[in-house]
Amino acid sequence: MHPYPFAYHRASSIDDALQLLAAHPDDGKLLAGGHSLLPVMKLRLAQPGHIIDITGLDELRGVQQLDGAIQIGALTTHHEVATDPIVREHAGLLAQIAHVVGDQQVRHRGTIGGALAHADPAADYPAGVLALDAEVIVRGPDGERVIPIGEFFVGFLTTSLDPRELITAIRIPARAGTGFRYEKMANPASGYAIVGVAVVVSTASGGTIDDIRVGITGATDTAFRATAVEDALRGGPGDLETVKAAASKATDGIDVLGDIHAPVDYRTRVTQNLTRRAILTALDRASA
Ligand SMILES: Cc1cc2nc3c(=O)[nH]c(=O)nc-3n(C[C@H](O)[C@H](O)[C@H](O)COP(=O)(O)OP(=O)(O)OC[C@H]3O[C@@H](n4cnc5c(N)ncnc54)[C@H](O)[C@@H]3O)c2cc1C
Repeated sequence: MHPYPFAYHRASSIDDALQLLAAHPDDGKLLAGGHSLLPVMKLRLAQPGHIIDITGLDELRGVQQLDGAIQIGALTTHHEVATDPIVREHAGLLAQIAHVVGDQQVRHRGTIGGALAHADPAADYPAGVLALDAEVIVRGPDGERVIPIGEFFVGFLTTSLDPRELITAIRIPARAGTGFRYEKMANPASGYAIVGVAVVVSTASGGTIDDIRVGITGATDTAFRATAVEDALRGGPGDLETVKAAASKATDGIDVLGDIHAPVDYRTRVTQNLTRRAILTALDRASA
């Protein structure tokens, strides 16, 4: 199917992209990897009048090591996130997640900034960035602002980004001694997560769980932190029975999605089981 007609603009700088967005706040759309935008345009679920191509903005690419954090440029591709040595060392969870996004073609074109901005309820990164307690760095007409990840995903395909804002980078605190794991049940046709669970955990001596963050995608209309699971484990032992009991709270307080791929009961059990598995593996990897 052919998309609706649109005007094409190639941004020459971040400021140029911001000016173009400000000029077309209602029907301007940034184009990064195009692997979510073009499918929705072809299906005519979105009909932007102005496409603002940012793929030439090299300042939005790459990974930097900062003091106590790493920063990943918005245009960094899934393949680059999966293979970058800084990401692998300081945010191994994100590298693991990037490695299971879609297929080779998707991983070489799709970008982390585009994936977060699109906020697909079945996308993989949202679980990881929630578990990693990341921040989204954005620029808009009023300059730069930093959005804590807990305030970023607000609903189905919806974020707290203003239409005149652009994501420049994702910042992730570097933490030593944490165990991590992403468990995913993939839709065999698309590769998207039917459910995906990301866990980051640190333990004190004796194996007591010091801190734990659990991010879940696919289970409902937006990714979320499973705080009931976290609260049931923080400060306690990480033995099998305690983890099982905590994981059974993974869907507490949420409306679990039901569809042709996974009815509500099934998706609920998958979410709880993947949560248990991800926590147990992350605990094995954590060093006090
Ligand atoms: C066949 C297929 C399989 C896939 N499988 C998976 C999967 O298993 N898991 C998964 O997580 N994803 C999957 N995806 C989606 C893929 O990861 C996309 O690449 C990603 O969701 C969007 O990134 P993009 O760079 O392609 O963004 P685009 O498609 O270019 O843009 C997506 C949206 O984000 C906006 N945007 C882009 N960049 C920015 C920015 N810097 N600031 C603000 N807004 C921005 C655009 O305006 C648009 O609204 C799949 C896609 C396809 C086609």
